[in-house]
Amino acid sequence: MPTLPSLNLLGDTAPAPVLGIDLGTTNSLVAVWEGNAPRVLSNEHGIAILPSVVSWTEDDSVVVGGAALARSKIAPDKTIHSAKRLIGRGAEDIQKAHLQLPYQVEDAKDRPMAMVRMGNRLISPIEVSAHVLSAARAQASQALERPVSDLNTAVITVPAYFDDAQRHATREAAKLAGLEVLRMVNEPTAAALAYGLQRGESSRILVYDLGGGTFDASVLQLEDGVFRVLATAGDTALGGDDIDSALVAHAAQGIQKKCGLNPLEDSSACSALRLAAERCKKNLSESTTAELSFHDPEAGIAWRETIQRKDFEALISPMVERSLKYCKHVLQDAGLQIEDLDELVLVGGSTRIPFVRQSVESYVGKEAQAGLNPDEIVALGAAVQGGVLAGANVNALLLDVTPLSLGIETVGGTVSKLVHRNSPIPCRATEGFTTFVDGQSAVKFHVVQGERELVADCRSLGEFILKGVPPMPAGLPKIGVEFTLDADGILRVKAKEERSGAAASIEIKPKHGLTDEEVESMLKCAWENAESDMQARRVSDLKTELETVLRSVRKNISLAERELSSNHWTRLREAIEDADDAADGDSPNTLQAVLGELEESAYPLAELLMNNLARETVTDRKVEEIIGGES
Ligand code: ADP
Ligand code: MG
Repeated sequence: MPTLPSLNLLGDTAPAPVLGIDLGTTNSLVAVWEGNAPRVLSNEHGIAILPSVVSWTEDDSVVVGGAALARSKIAPDKTIHSAKRLIGRGAEDIQKAHLQLPYQVEDAKDRPMAMVRMGNRLISPIEVSAHVLSAARAQASQALERPVSDLNTAVITVPAYFDDAQRHATREAAKLAGLEVLRMVNEPTAAALAYGLQRGESSRILVYDLGGGTFDASVLQLEDGVFRVLATAGDTALGGDDIDSALVAHAAQGIQKKCGLNPLEDSSACSALRLAAERCKKNLSESTTAELSFHDPEAGIAWRETIQRKDFEALISPMVERSLKYCKHVLQDAGLQIEDLDELVLVGGSTRIPFVRQSVESYVGKEAQAGLNPDEIVALGAAVQGGVLAGANVNALLLDVTPLSLGIETVGGTVSKLVHRNSPIPCRATEGFTTFVDGQSAVKFHVVQGERELVADCRSLGEFILKGVPPMPAGLPKIGVEFTLDADGILRVKAKEERSGAAASIEIKPKHGLTDEEVESMLKCAWENAESDMQARRVSDLKTELETVLRSVRKNISLAERELSSNHWTRLREAIEDADDAADGDSPNTLQAVLGELEESAYPLAELLMNNLARETVTDRKVEEIIGGES
């Protein structure tokens, strides 16, 4: 017989809190809003950090968190970590990202969805994340002394760069864990909320988040207690994992040298070495030297080295530099100078490294906000947002931004952008379009994402067709297109022909996601194609070409003087002089002109040489050299 929900008429009827969950690549945390502040919830041992690790035991039961992490050494092939790096992506994306993962990743049988190969089974990262979220929910239930079934709503944070597919997949994981996601919040935005910066004066905030797997830099602006994210940038291959990898590589080299064995060839040794490297790294955050040691008696390996903090700093300095480069970009995107920043917020376990903190502070010229535990900040912020949604007045409203522009294809393969990159979301944009061909009764809409002008250079998100347009001469139909981007970054596109009322729409749920690398490289491409860059590149290309042609002509100059007709020789000589004069200049037009003339006037010489070469049977390569490439 179906049971009715329980009704509590006697006990206190305090509403169940909304869980704030930081579902991290490395670690997850859960917090709630209580009274007038957020609180992180710990497990029965008083530990709040829940490693985002899941392991399957011999009898196929699942362990999560610290226990799973411990198993990564004894059962590395049955333990999965960093599932967040795979979620919502295809195996191809993962390959392209060149991530160092200790397990094999392949697509699901029926679609491009990255799965982890475990023996003869494929495990989806959604399932792994669901286990982590369930564990977080159970941890909260225990800490709050409330039944798990009471806790079924959550605010979950995601990296600012997560695209639709990654957000969808995260939402699915939550659903599997019995949680309804009330809101997804970008991690940096949560961080600012955690510091209560919404209560301050008008200010501009740089959030620098260096965690285990991802790096995010974001600029937020606070106006009258309202946050606006001005810009975000990030890198998935930058974080504590990569720092560990650098130490592991260093150790492996030493071990190979001393013991003649490569520990990286054995997956269990590899996991053990990673843990040792991470321990050493953390110790170096506290002291100026730390031991990195690795013992594997079975394999006959005993190795140790004392690492100096300054050597460690030199090892990670390129990574820190890279992160600062992103900060520079993000400021540029936000249209700000470093001096315009009022606050600096450091987030993520890796910002406990003194060198990281110092480097960022010195770059920004400001001390970072302090007081909160860097690895708890995001969960605390999620709990603040949870409080807002549950009706608490925390005087904050969230606005996030879209990382890439969204638009539709127009005639000639060009893109008409409706939502521009870094637009605050949720948002709505509309634009009117018309037809190109007489009597067109159906119109195709192709939705794309990217910063470039041509469809071919952007990413296709989906297509839909508007049918039932009454036949009219081209240009007469009025078709209104509306883009709606909701708070979770999910896009709906609607098209409606005004006279007939014919309408069609699409909700974009891509088959698999856009990797952060792709977002980065698309942005980079756009930057590189800015007009000034294009001119600079053209000048430099022309100079290179000019130089190549000049060099090959000079090589044969005496032959030219000897054997060319006097007309040809004079023309060539003058062309060389003009080219020499122009070579230092920066005018693309002049360079193009002298290059053209030089190639033209060198043609008789090229012919002459070809004839000579045919006679002397010298290699083809020289012909190319003489002609100067493609002329
Ligand atoms: P994520 O958000 O990616 O899950 P976290 O913010 O929890 O990650 O950060 C985890 C990373 O922080 C790990 O790489 C971990 O080794 C590193 N970390 C944690 N504590 C320290 C420390 N004291 N010193 C240096 N790195 C640390
Ligand atoms: Mg994090």
